[in-house]
Amino acid sequence: MRRNFTNRNFKNRNLVGIKYSLVGLLGLVLQTSACGAALLGASIAVTPQAVACPCETYNKKPEELDKKAEEISGSVMRDGISYTKSSQYKKDFARCMASARKACLDYLKEHPGADNMAVVSDIDETILDNRDYYKTTDKFVWKDFVKWVRLAKAPPLKPSADFLKWARSKGFAVFLVTGRMEELKAPTIKNLVRANVAYDGIYFRNQGDRRSAIEIKTAVRKQIEDLGFTIVVNMGDQMSDMVGGHAIDCEKLPNKLYVID
Ligand SMILES: [Mg+2]
Repeated sequence: MRRNFTNRNFKNRNLVGIKYSLVGLLGLVLQTSACGAALLGASIAVTPQAVACPCETYNKKPEELDKKAEEISGSVMRDGISYTKSSQYKKDFARCMASARKACLDYLKEHPGADNMAVVSDIDETILDNRDYYKTTDKFVWKDFVKWVRLAKAPPLKPSADFLKWARSKGFAVFLVTGRMEELKAPTIKNLVRANVAYDGIYFRNQGDRRSAIEIKTAVRKQIEDLGFTIVVNMGDQMSDMVGGHAIDCEKLPNKLYVID
């Protein structure tokens, strides 16, 4: 999994609330030129479960993450932070959460008496806000980020935390799926308790697992389905949180700080 701060990807990530309908896929083709060729070559008649990964995948070591970040100007992160202070960011985020609520309500309406419904959510920049780390640096440094995570003091992103609380009150199980490694499990759980985020299952990246975020997160959603759950909403701040299918509705939250492929 790589944090990629290139301007090219930064510009291409103006994607909010994409759903893997035909319209969503066409939008993806138009807006992500890096992925467009791959998608155009693929079948467009897809179901949510049949969406192939359109993005290149990476298997980088933490040291390589640092090396890549060093090549990049800090302006991307500063711009990313500025965007989070804008009314546009609040609107973008709110639109995703309204869409997620609607997806849950529609499902309840269409499936009266249904049980084993689930919401899947990423953690970083989806329900936990790491800006207090990113404000301190012009480049992403893996070791420093780990130190920040161990402090367990990231505040919650209120709109998404509120959505998860609401979804549980409506009978949806909440599963958190993160690219954080197992060694960060204790501080992550501590942080979630402090942030008052309740959940029913939590999945981390196994130590030494070099698969891409897409591979790992898709496999986890499949595992959740195999438990008997229907994933009604899958939400995250990265495209890699949601490509791969195994969800009815996907909500891409705004994040212009970084891209994880
Ligand atoms: Mg994230």
